[in-house]
Amino acid sequence: MSINHKSNITTSAVRAGINNDQHHGAVVAPIHLSSTYSLKGFNEKRQFDYSRTGNPTRAIFADVIADLEQGSVGIVTSTGMAAVHLLCQLLSVDDTVIIPHDCYGGSFRLFTHLAKRGQFKLIVVDQNDQQALDKALAHIPKLVLLESPSNPLLRIVDIEEVTKACHRVGALVAVDNTFLSPALQQPLTLGADIVFHSTTKYINGHSDVVGGVLVTKTAELGATLAWWANCIGITGSAFDSFLALRGLKTLPVRMKQHQENALQVANFLKNHDAIDAIYFPGLPEHKGHDIAKKQQFGYGAMLSFEVKGGVEAVKKLFDNLELFTLAQSLGGVESLISHPSTMTHAGMEIADQLEAGITQSLVRISVGIEDIKDILADLAHGLAQSQQ
Ligand code: PLP
Repeated sequence: MSINHKSNITTSAVRAGINNDQHHGAVVAPIHLSSTYSLKGFNEKRQFDYSRTGNPTRAIFADVIADLEQGSVGIVTSTGMAAVHLLCQLLSVDDTVIIPHDCYGGSFRLFTHLAKRGQFKLIVVDQNDQQALDKALAHIPKLVLLESPSNPLLRIVDIEEVTKACHRVGALVAVDNTFLSPALQQPLTLGADIVFHSTTKYINGHSDVVGGVLVTKTAELGATLAWWANCIGITGSAFDSFLALRGLKTLPVRMKQHQENALQVANFLKNHDAIDAIYFPGLPEHKGHDIAKKQQFGYGAMLSFEVKGGVEAVKKLFDNLELFTLAQSLGGVESLISHPSTMTHAGMEIADQLEAGITQSLVRISVGIEDIKDILADLAHGLAQSQQ
């Protein structure tokens, strides 16, 4: 599959924010750090008045992401979780929300804890189980959250089909697109109402920003969410917007290298004696391969696998890696490895982890853009040691 699905995505990303400085013609969009803006006169506001509400640098970043996702309004938040939390502002106490049973641990923690406090009604469901999904939709939810590919098991949901079913009962659909970025998947074009990201990951791509963004299909929904983002004070900073905008310029080029490397890693791991199972949608034997092929423009660079020998073997693997860094997060140019149960998904009870398929032997990797020979050599060494 080619990443250049939309002939202008590489160009749009590179050209992001250029020609925005009317005063000096700065080629790179300037960072506007001012927290406040003068009025022209009594009750005569300019475009911006206060940086929580609106900021020129953040506005450029928001518009560029909205364009890449083919949506109408972009809202930049201080973290990815702030973007998820912003969605909760659409819900009242009597509303029902559906989330996938295997979503990012932080999203799972937020929704389950707010539901426990009575802020809304929550249904957690395996969205690939048609019967369970139909049963959940019979509760007429206000909002349905999708995450495809899911973190950490790379499960794929048919976004178009599930969205149609949700729309039939009047629910809004919000898709977490963090694992792929708009370069590899555009949920709004598949019918979703909202797409969101932790920009901490591929969009910024250099592991030096924590941020988030939401893009809405309609201007009306965008205005509602932008109002709430200002009201609860979760908008992103100008400096982070500047950095993320800089990272975004190389997004399509980075994704190309990321996924080339990931495919080679997956092919190396799938026949390895130290591996019990591998989860990567790019492999034809992956359960969601055909749907991924249909709705994505590439398979991304996240994969997970079960190491033979349980958690002891996992520890030996980690101790013997030199190139891979043991760290949470993903989507940076450097290769990272993590243990979801004790790291990214530690916010989930062990019973919920097991229900979602997250075992103690599960390892997740974010394949970086280092030379593939070095990546494979490191994994080969670590895996051999894991079985000693
Ligand atoms: N969604 C997914 C899929 C994630 O992996 C993460 C973080 O790992 C988030 C949302 C939350 O983003 P942040 O850590 O930027 O708050």
